[in-house]
Amino acid sequence: MDFPALITALVTGAGRGIGRAIAIEFARRGILVGVHARTLENAAQVAEEIRAGGGRAEPLEGDLADPEVAAKLVAVAREKLGAPLEILVNNAGVLREALALTASLEHWNSMMSVNLDAVFLCSKAAARDMLRLRRGSILNISSTAAITGDVGRTAYSTAKAGLSGLTKSLARELGSAGVRVNALAPGPVETAMTAGLPPAKREALVSRIPLGRFATPEEVARVAAFLVSPAAAYITGQVIAVDGGLTA
Ligand code: NAP
Repeated sequence: MDFPALITALVTGAGRGIGRAIAIEFARRGILVGVHARTLENAAQVAEEIRAGGGRAEPLEGDLADPEVAAKLVAVAREKLGAPLEILVNNAGVLREALALTASLEHWNSMMSVNLDAVFLCSKAAARDMLRLRRGSILNISSTAAITGDVGRTAYSTAKAGLSGLTKSLARELGSAGVRVNALAPGPVETAMTAGLPPAKREALVSRIPLGRFATPEEVARVAAFLVSPAAAYITGQVIAVDGGLTA
């Protein structure tokens, strides 16, 4: 489960929630982490927290809704970390709800840009580095919404389902060079994204989860650390649900 030598990782959307927990877990295992968030303030706070605990981290900012920013983020991370990326976690994501029949194309595009287009652009850039190194691991943070769909989340779940195709196709294209690509599909997790759920919706959700509760970000982070580690050396092209049994 441990990593052999100094390894570099970029975790997008690590300013809070699941991404923050993944960045902290990686740093705890000796990985030099590029902590990205939309706002530098959040990224810097998490990087500082990691350093205070004896880990290594560099903060990075950028709005991944902008394709030019997304296309350049890996190069910026390489520059800041002083080495090519060996691990990329595409975690940044946004969820805005709208019923399909009334949702605008603007809404649809805003869900696609961060949740899918940015993952394509960051992965493409990271894969170039990894192909040269002949090793690397890309992990996409999807959602159980990709598996089940959800009312009011047509665009979000479509973008997340798109990640499955991207994950499996990239795994096939990059496997012979020793680069693995997987996705992790969390069910509901205790983060800002779910903090505003109306109590009735939260209770209805919990009643459908065999383990009877939402996940903590740390529980998701530990699976992420496993999937990018040498312990998962023979796992690629998979979408792993971390959902307390929700989709079992
Ligand atoms: P969160 O608490 O809302 O945090 C989202 C992170 O993404 C923040 O650090 C934010 O940056 C960053 N971000 C948002 N929009 C961005 C943009 N346009 N450009 C760059 N960065 C952006 O979310 P979370 O709950 O931890 O979710 C993380 C991932 O897990 C997402 O992909 C989400 O879809 C997925 N997921 C979450 C759940 C859940 O229940 N929470 C369930 C399944 C899947 P700032 O810090 O600067 O705001």
